[in-house]
Amino acid sequence: MDKKCSVCQKDMHDAGKVVDYYGDYAAYIDIQDAQLIDGVPGTEDNHQCVHLGVCSSCNYMEEIVISEKLLK
Ligand SMILES: [Zn+2]
Repeated sequence: MDKKCSVCQKDMHDAGKVVDYYGDYAAYIDIQDAQLIDGVPGTEDNHQCVHLGVCSSCNYMEEIVISEKLLK
């Protein structure tokens, strides 16, 4: 992941999709909200999803929108 921590400027690691990370409580939000978390609406041709980035140094966490095409 080409993302620097906004606190200490160290490299951040991809901690996975937000929907996977939040797990159970995602079940309490409605489908439309789940789609907003899992993917940005209207971008099927260039699908993006929200991942969590975790700083390798200070463990600061930040939501990062990632294009899935870049992951393949
Ligand atoms: Zn940091």
